[in-house]
Amino acid sequence: MTKYVYHFREGNAQMRNLLGGKGANLAEMTRLGMPIPQGFTVTTEACNDYYANGGAISPEIKEQIDQALAALESETGKKLGGIDNPLLVSVRSGARASMPGMMDTILNLGMNDQVVEVVARKTANPRFAWDSYRRFIQMYSDVVMELSKKHFEELIDAIKEKRGIKFDNELTTEDLQELAAQFKAEYKAKLGEDFPQDPYDQLMGAIKAVFRSWNNPRAIYYRHMNDIPGDWGTAVNVQMMVFGNMGDTSGTGVAFTRDPATGEKRMFGEYLINAQGEDVVAGIRTPKPITVLEQDMPQVYKQFIDIATTLENHYRDMQDMEFTIEEEKLYFLQTRNGKRTAAAALKVAVDLVDEGLRTEEEALLMVEPKQLDQLLHPRFDDKALKNAKPIGKGLPASPGSAAGKLYFSAEDAKNAHAAGRRVVLARLETSPEDIEGMAASEGILTVRGGRTSHAAVVARGMGTCCVAGCGEAKIDEDKKTLTLGGVTYREGDYISLDGSTGNIYAGDLPTVPAQITGDFGRFMGWADKARRLKVRTNADTPRDARTAVQFGAEGIGLTRTEHMFFDEERIPCMQQMIMSDNEDDRRAALKKLLPMQREDFIGIYEAMEERPVTIRLLDPPLHEFLPKNEEDFADLAKRMGLSMTQVKARAAELHEFNPMMGHRGCRLCVTYPEIAEMQAQAIIEAALYVKKTKGYDIKPEIMIPLVGEIKELNYVADVVRKVADRVIADSGVEMEYLIGTMIEIPRAALTADRIAETAQFFSFGTNDLTQMTFGFSRDDAGAFLGDYYAKNIYEFDPFARLDFDGVGQLVKLAAEKGRATRPDIHLGICGEHGGDPASVEFCHNVGLDYVSCSPYRVPIARLAAAQAAIKARG
Ligand code: ADP
Ligand code: MG
Ligand code: MG
Repeated sequence: MTKYVYHFREGNAQMRNLLGGKGANLAEMTRLGMPIPQGFTVTTEACNDYYANGGAISPEIKEQIDQALAALESETGKKLGGIDNPLLVSVRSGARASMPGMMDTILNLGMNDQVVEVVARKTANPRFAWDSYRRFIQMYSDVVMELSKKHFEELIDAIKEKRGIKFDNELTTEDLQELAAQFKAEYKAKLGEDFPQDPYDQLMGAIKAVFRSWNNPRAIYYRHMNDIPGDWGTAVNVQMMVFGNMGDTSGTGVAFTRDPATGEKRMFGEYLINAQGEDVVAGIRTPKPITVLEQDMPQVYKQFIDIATTLENHYRDMQDMEFTIEEEKLYFLQTRNGKRTAAAALKVAVDLVDEGLRTEEEALLMVEPKQLDQLLHPRFDDKALKNAKPIGKGLPASPGSAAGKLYFSAEDAKNAHAAGRRVVLARLETSPEDIEGMAASEGILTVRGGRTSHAAVVARGMGTCCVAGCGEAKIDEDKKTLTLGGVTYREGDYISLDGSTGNIYAGDLPTVPAQITGDFGRFMGWADKARRLKVRTNADTPRDARTAVQFGAEGIGLTRTEHMFFDEERIPCMQQMIMSDNEDDRRAALKKLLPMQREDFIGIYEAMEERPVTIRLLDPPLHEFLPKNEEDFADLAKRMGLSMTQVKARAAELHEFNPMMGHRGCRLCVTYPEIAEMQAQAIIEAALYVKKTKGYDIKPEIMIPLVGEIKELNYVADVVRKVADRVIADSGVEMEYLIGTMIEIPRAALTADRIAETAQFFSFGTNDLTQMTFGFSRDDAGAFLGDYYAKNIYEFDPFARLDFDGVGQLVKLAAEKGRATRPDIHLGICGEHGGDPASVEFCHNVGLDYVSCSPYRVPIARLAAAQAAIKARG
């Protein structure tokens, strides 16, 4: 019999896949003898079973839940729905990977019209009892019945207004009773039935709702962003309630053992007196810093520090903890490795090594490679900052610099971003529904909430700048205005945020590129020691090449020669070449392009010194270079001494129905060998020149794109070789060069053993290989892939993360076949995937020699390659 339900005493931290992170850590803390309200965890396997059963809890699982509940009841001496000593529980989600706020939690379950009276009497605290009941009705309606939260909040606002009070904790017992009645009426009005009074039904309803929340849109979006597979499922934790809303000696809070923004080693936390659950995170009132607890309740503070320290040493990582104080008694409700900014992640990792808690390799595994991107982002120009006067200040919740146009809803922010605008999202507070809008923003500004509020936590997780809790700001979300320092800003006005100081500026402050700090350099040094894969870059200009070298690139895996032809000066020559209807005219145009192309390559070879450089021959279909409007067509006709009709006719000839699968890549060379001849000549002459003038030992790598057949490759390779050999012989200097190909057409992968007879290297062009394998184009798939994610058909964008099961198999097969023919064949990848950590790991595991990615992703690939090597060593 499968065990689907575990008491906290039965689990431990290693059981995270089964119990979820929250459940596993609650079990571990129980084992460590910490004050944890007891309970049990329904496993992630039960969640998968629920989905496999079409959304039903099987009798077997139900029975195990019943047993666990009975055990909890006898242990606590309380009974769910009991009228002597009622048990109240929370029902909490908890997946394998932490997904803060993405799924649902219900507190105070077990309340009903009768139980609330018992609790009021037993605690002699009717205010507390009714506060708990009204909260429960709210959460149950929202999470289980999916009633919009908004109406409940309006009812609260209305009563506050009537009573002339500002905060929830000022509501009286009578107010809360009235609210509970209003909530129940609302429930009945909307759902046509009474609010459920049977606590056991409530419990089963809540467990199912938590399972369902695994597939709510924001959870799906979060998984998609963070590479979390949909089949992991969530666990459910059922836990005895403890109460932070019992009065002024109770409270609830969250804390980090180190500063999650900077990584600095100091306790960092916030709490609210007389509050429950999410109150701190939701930013309902601005909380007090944890240090104040030392004065408020010194004993509790001391115990808190002891436990927090023990936890950090136990997990050997920065902890993010939730706690509740019930009448001066401290309980821990959660611990997890805290989400942090990239700067903090590096500092914590390096410090833990220096503190002797972690080895260098362990430290490398603690930093999310994608996060490094944040460190490479620009920051405000110091001069501009000095001259700018802040219009206000909030809490520095997530560092970084953001300048953009103001928007007031997640939806508007998302749309503005899609329209190509830089966006700053300003909200009273954010909630989990806002996640897509937050992801689309350069920066986030909130009026309410502290440094542990939802906005702050999510922003830090995404590496987005955030200034939170700017109480002096007035935001009118309906009118779409922000008033600060006496000035009103409207939607679309520019505003700048400094997430490191909390300063807010009017206007669009200029930024400068980032600098690489000491910790970063040291950490990347460890990564370089650990990895086997080489990391190259995709660069088309000397400037990109130099940037990439600064970031640690060891060569160029892809230079796209066509990018150079779009230059204003060159495109006329290119167009002239394309428009020519005979070889002589084409050669005349190519002759003009030759010196320009040679200059490009000289620049790149000089920038890369002796590092390897792969240059790809012309790839796109020719019509891409044609004029885009009438005026340019007229210009071209004039330059070439042709009539408009003639020019248009030639352009029409070049039209293709499906250019992506049309006359491009090596197919161009089969028709017009002179183009490849010119390019080969430019490459070799440039290499010879730099060898002579700089003394670098250069071995050009010439790459032929879009090959699908060995004879096709042979034809083009012969064209290239003839020119290259002649140029080298004429120069009297010795030079070796390599001819290789892209593997980007499924047929090339399938016949890679043949292809390798000629190709001296393969570079997997996984952008094309992905679109050709899936049969949808990168440019069009965006329109429908969203539906595929929402329906859990595809979980990842296959253009961002290599599809291991399909495209990956072609890569693996081609690598094997290539090696079988030519054991020393050099293998790399140059698609977008070369900078994606999961794909890099795949490349490591199938034994490629290098990955190549855009300059800014080079550090990401270096770390991902190190992690892949460490994981593979086990
Ligand atoms: P999330 O994963 O979104 O953080 P949690 O399950 O941690 O959700 O619950 C949200 C909040 O509810 C937590 O801050 C915690 O303090 C509070 N909470 C959960 N269970 C209990 C409980 N048994 N007693 C008191 N408070 C609880
Ligand atoms: Mg939590
Ligand atoms: Mg391609």
